[in-house]
Order: sequence, then structure tokens, then C-alpha cells
Amino acid sequence: SIDQKMVVTSYSASSGEELVKKYPQWETDYFLFGTGLSQKVMVISKWLGDLFLRLLKMVTIPLIVTSLITGIASLGNATRFGAMFSKTLLYYLFTSLLAISTGILVVNLIRPGIGAELPGGSGVLSSGRESVGSIFLDMIDRLIPTNIIHSLGAGEFLSIISFSMLAGIFIILVGGKHAKVLTDFFQAGFEVMMRMTMFVISLAPIGVTAFMIYAVSSQGIEIFKTLGWYMITVSLALLIHAVVILPCLLKFVAGRSPLQFAHAMSPALMTAFSTASSNGTLPLTMTCVEENAKVSNEVSSFVLPLGATINMDGTALYEAVAVLFIAQAYTGVVMPLPDQILVAVTALLASIGAAGIPHAGLVMMAIVLQAVGLPLEAQGVIIAVDRVLDMCRTSVNVWSDSCGCAIIERYRGPAASSNST
Ligand code: ASP
Repeated sequence: SIDQKMVVTSYSASSGEELVKKYPQWETDYFLFGTGLSQKVMVISKWLGDLFLRLLKMVTIPLIVTSLITGIASLGNATRFGAMFSKTLLYYLFTSLLAISTGILVVNLIRPGIGAELPGGSGVLSSGRESVGSIFLDMIDRLIPTNIIHSLGAGEFLSIISFSMLAGIFIILVGGKHAKVLTDFFQAGFEVMMRMTMFVISLAPIGVTAFMIYAVSSQGIEIFKTLGWYMITVSLALLIHAVVILPCLLKFVAGRSPLQFAHAMSPALMTAFSTASSNGTLPLTMTCVEENAKVSNEVSSFVLPLGATINMDGTALYEAVAVLFIAQAYTGVVMPLPDQILVAVTALLASIGAAGIPHAGLVMMAIVLQAVGLPLEAQGVIIAVDRVLDMCRTSVNVWSDSCGCAIIERYRGPAASSNST
């Protein structure tokens, strides 16, 4: 039961209104104001698009849980890399935060969402947060679920992420036979969920087409002007991170020539671009890092697989820019600073939780949207242009993992050499 009346009233254009005054029967039957497309086409395309969104939502939570537990629990095999572990995490965290800051800076300068009208919602930021302090207190509360089953059912992402992380950590701590059973179990679950997500993603062309028809028919070509600025903003911020910030780290921290390193990594970067999947690119990334860039296997086998799951600079940046764009479009104003900080923190969490497969970043954006009280339907609008942005951010994800290898390689120190038990 689709509320056709609502569809009609929200997307009227002046010429259409005049026509309907003349021919009232058109209102519910044939005519879509402004574009002349059949209203039925619009209703059906919205429905198809919504089905696709439902599928995305369906896989999100099992994917987060299995991906996070597997990612962390598999560290258990790498405990001998103790010293490297903290350095690697520090690198992941530092570069992701740099990426997010770049994104937030650029989106505040360009303000692609101001004046843009997105279909599908009259979103208002859920307010009532006065200070950064109260936001963090609130977040800490939500980090600790009192009933994880309830959190899973209610889709409370923060609770789910923190519980999954703790589960991964304690699987490592318990170790032995039981840890093996659980690691295998979640690994198997993760594989299955990845396949299922891949399947859902393979339906993306249908979902995307449906949403594009819906977007064009409801908004006219204007939507692409709107999303055009959004795309420029994301791309520009990604470019700054990839060709300015990370190369500076390479040069001054790892002591490597950024150009040579980029050349060495180019097969992996190109594959990342065309497949939009860090996981799919992983074998190539490892080969390039070891063979071409001469990083030791000890470093690459630790930094890259973990990085493909939890270090996603491009995705983190994209989450922050996209959500701030959506907020600008829905509210018409720039988001207040405390909310922007909340976006930054949740964008980091979302990028950590995102799997290295196409469109995972878009799926995970639900976390960030939910945190600042924006409608999840916004995902349905920006999916229209997500593929090309996904290709760009995936290359940045792989590029950051590779740079991480060069840096960790330089500073791994003697503690990481060997102490296997
Ligand atoms: N496709 C990205 C990757 O594989 C994740 C994302 O959608 O942001 O790294």
C-alpha cells in the first residue's frame, strides 16, 4: 500500500498543478507533474528502490558482527607482532582521523548541501544536545548495551560494534580450543554474509536505476546538479588526502619517494578502482607491497588484511562528507560543531565496521545518520552516484593500507622480530 497521494503532493511542479486543475482525474492516474512520466512508473520505481534498501538493511547487522569479530579475533594468530600491533592501530587511527578532518574541512568550505533539496524526507536534526560533553556521555552510554539481543533487534549500531569488538578481544584472551571454535564459526559466518552482501550488491543496478528514475521523476534533472556538487566535494577531499597528506607521511615518516611507491602500488590501486573492493584487491595489494615496494612479509601479512577490514581512510572521509552534505540539504544550515564531532567519531566507527566490498561504506552510513538523527532514506538518494565514489574511496583505502606498510616497516623495531610461542 503505497501512499500515492503523498507522492503526488510532495513533488508537484507548477505546470503540473495547472494541468491537474484542468484535468483532476490525472492526479491519481497518469500524469506525473513536471516530467510527464507516468506516476505509476514513479511509484513502482520507488517501491523497487525501497526493496533494494531493505535488502541492504537486512545484511548490515550480521555483516558488522561477523566482520568485526573475525577481524579482531584473527589477531590472535598474530600476537607475536605485539609491538607492531599498537603502532599499526595508531597509524590506522591517525590517518583515518586526518582523512575525516580533511573531509569535514572541505565540506564546510564548499557546502554542497546548502540549498539542495533531497527527496524522501523533511529531516530535522534530533536536537537537545547542548555540548560536546553530553554527546560523548550519551555515546558512552550507548557503547554499553544492557541487553545485546535487544540492541541487535533494535539495530543499535554503537552497542553492536562495541559488543562485537569486546567479543573479538575476549576470544583472543580465552585462546586455545574454544577460541578456535568461535573464530572458525564467525569466520564462516562472515564468508556467508560477504557472499550474501555481494549478491545484494549485484542487484544494485536495479536499485540504482529505480532510484534514479524516482529521483529524476520527482526532482527533475536538478538532483544531478545537487549530487554533482556533492561528488565534487567527496572527490576533492579524497584527492587531497591521497596526493598531499599520505605522500607527506610516506616522505617524512617512512622516508620513501611517494612517486616511486605509487608506481610500485599502481596495479593494486587500479584494481581497487575498478572493483571497488579492498578485500577483492587484497592479494594484489600484498604482492605489490612485497614484490614491488620491498616491504617484508612479516609487516604486510599483518598490516594489510587487518587494514582491508578496519583501516578505511577513503570510507571514513566519505561517510563524514556524505552525512554532512545530507544534513545541510535536509536542514538548510551547516551542522553545529558538536554534531560535526559526533559525525567524525561515528564516521570513524563506520569505516572500521565497513567490510571491504563494494558499497559497504554506503551500508554502514546508517550508523552515522542514526547518530545525528537523520533519516536513513537519504542513503537511497546518494546511492545514485555511489559507484563512482566507491571506486575512488576504495583506491584511497588501499593506498592508505599500503603507505601504512611502508611506515610500519621502517619503525617495526627489534621487538617485533620473533617471539613465537
Ligand atoms: N568499497 C570499499 C572498500 O572495499 C568500502 C566502501 O564501500 O567504502 O574498501
